[in-house]
Amino acid sequence: MRKVFGVHQETHAKGQLRPEVIRDLTAIGYPGFYQATAFLTREGRARWEAERLLLFPTECCVCRAPAELVLKTRNAASNFFGLRRSTLSGVPHCRAHADFGHARLLAGAEDLGHRYMSVTLVAASRAFLENTLALCSEDGLYEPPWIVFPGKSPHIGWNQGTESAWRQLAWEPFWQNLTDRDSYIKDWHAPAEWERYLSDQR
Ligand SMILES: [Zn+2]
Repeated sequence: MRKVFGVHQETHAKGQLRPEVIRDLTAIGYPGFYQATAFLTREGRARWEAERLLLFPTECCVCRAPAELVLKTRNAASNFFGLRRSTLSGVPHCRAHADFGHARLLAGAEDLGHRYMSVTLVAASRAFLENTLALCSEDGLYEPPWIVFPGKSPHIGWNQGTESAWRQLAWEPFWQNLTDRDSYIKDWHAPAEWERYLSDQR
């Protein structure tokens, strides 16, 4: 996953490099497949640890028809896109796409046990991935950067892999949408440098 973040980036409006949210795999020889990485919130990680489950929309992961069956991903030795084998329970399918008895979706968990844990998914429906990312990011809260990456300055030293991707894909949208920022800063005991930095953004 780190490789994916580092290599495939698009230029943001400000000229800043941003990791792609959803990647079309056509260019690397897999037409009709899309890849997305969801950083899990605190609540999302708890769900993953307890049930090996993400929040999914109630639509088929292939065709977006209403979901009728939930399937597990296979615990196969597949190394597709470097996704290590991982079992994900409860992937929604319509009846037709559930025919083979295993999920039509690949999942790989990264950085288990860390607050910046992520799950990378490969699916046939871009819209399904978009909806899944939205659900995952609204599922509770992200802990602040000074807790997730202790000692890291807001200004420098963020590597181009997991650290920058977490900050840009998980933390920044969360912060932008957070309504009670004062309480969050207080509750999470922001260090002075972070408090100044975030205050300047308000
Ligand atoms: Zn379907």
